[in-house]
Amino acid sequence: MHIVIIGGSFGGLTTAYDLRRLLPRRQYEITVISKERRFIFIPSLPWVAMGSKTIADISFDLERPLTSKGVNFVEAAVTGIDPQARKVHTDQEAFDYDYLVIATGHRSANEAVEGLGPFDGPGHSLMSPPEAEEARDALAAFLDDPGPMVIGCAPGASCVGPAYEFLFEVHHALKQRSLASKVPITFVTPEPFLGHFGVGGFGKIRQFLEGELEDRDVRYHTSVAISKITAGSVELEDGTEFESRFSLVIPPLAGVKPVAEAEGLANPKGFIPVDPNYRHKDFGTIYAVGVAVALPPVEETPVPVNFPKTGHMTEQMAKIAAGNIAADILGGEKTSPDLRVECIMSMGTEGAHIFADPVRPPRNVSAMSNGKRWLWAKKFFSNYYLWKMKRGATRSPKWVW
Ligand SMILES: Cc1cc2nc3c(=O)[nH]c(=O)nc-3n(C[C@H](O)[C@H](O)[C@H](O)COP(=O)(O)OP(=O)(O)OC[C@H]3O[C@@H](n4cnc5c(N)ncnc54)[C@H](O)[C@@H]3O)c2cc1C
Repeated sequence: MHIVIIGGSFGGLTTAYDLRRLLPRRQYEITVISKERRFIFIPSLPWVAMGSKTIADISFDLERPLTSKGVNFVEAAVTGIDPQARKVHTDQEAFDYDYLVIATGHRSANEAVEGLGPFDGPGHSLMSPPEAEEARDALAAFLDDPGPMVIGCAPGASCVGPAYEFLFEVHHALKQRSLASKVPITFVTPEPFLGHFGVGGFGKIRQFLEGELEDRDVRYHTSVAISKITAGSVELEDGTEFESRFSLVIPPLAGVKPVAEAEGLANPKGFIPVDPNYRHKDFGTIYAVGVAVALPPVEETPVPVNFPKTGHMTEQMAKIAAGNIAADILGGEKTSPDLRVECIMSMGTEGAHIFADPVRPPRNVSAMSNGKRWLWAKKFFSNYYLWKMKRGATRSPKWVW
């Protein structure tokens, strides 16, 4: 029996390791296909954009960790998926599967707002390694000739946390260079209040973020829809225009092309509808995890904000899917526990920790706290996570995810 997993990041790698642990090697072949041959710790991209980390610092090559565990690794781009024929086509060869796990993450839907970039418009982004590197170079040039700056999220964005992280990190860098007075920053977000994050907020995060932005003289606008980004401005749907010489705007996301284009596989945005076991609603041998999955917003907001699928949630989805595939094959009970969320946001000189269980309100726990210890925890965690994933350890002590 052959299990094919597309994607070598949080979702794909976690599923592969867990399935390998659950299914005997001799009878069950597992293959990971990824167009990127490295595992890259994406949550550290804001530090890449700030120039304090390189992609090499936050990544490792997938081949050895996978093959040493008895999982095949294929570096290839998937070009098509045929759920009827149970075949995955790549730019190299085709693979037959008995079970397929799709963990292909996102495509930035830059077509949603004119000017979103960086490679197809003047706006900057940090949703992928090349975009974060572009932002780093553009920011370095901007600091030599500073001016007004806009940071924020486009309507329909789901991954809004990195916009806040970038804002705090940039402000810290400006202060260190005594440039804060030369760079008026405007923060614009479709969220109904600061810190909504597409999940209705966490504890007292709204008051905390309002205070932090006010302390930094950052003007902020909530429930707003960016409609256009030019080289010198950011425009809103209501006609408001902000001067901006450097605009970093998080785009809305969509599913990747081969998933979006496979007949019957995805919703109109290219995300995959799944049942509570992370199994495809129509194709019983296909599972999906992570950003590739279609999950509805927690509530309707005046300007759309979508539900975030974080690395922590992706890891939980992968473990649930792996357990359920093994239960399908070997027999046993399937599980579908509610997702929790835990994140640390870096803020220059300190960090903010947010935790909610379950992630969708109403919740048993919803809390935030801040302090220098969280910045240290975030720095430690990124290295720890790379270390553990290189070794195939998907289980952590209780005090980390
Ligand atoms: C800037 C930023 C900061 C973040 N910060 C945090 C944070 O602090 N905490 C947190 O929990 N989460 C954070 N996240 C979210 C987290 O990074 C994502 O939830 C996580 O990366 C999702 O994992 P995934 O496996 O679903 O997809 P991805 O990480 O997007 O990986 C997709 C995989 O699929 C492969 N792939 C895609 N298309 C193809 C194809 N056609 N053929 C073959 N392979 C393909 C890629 O090579 C890759 O291996 C952040 C995200 C960003 C962008």
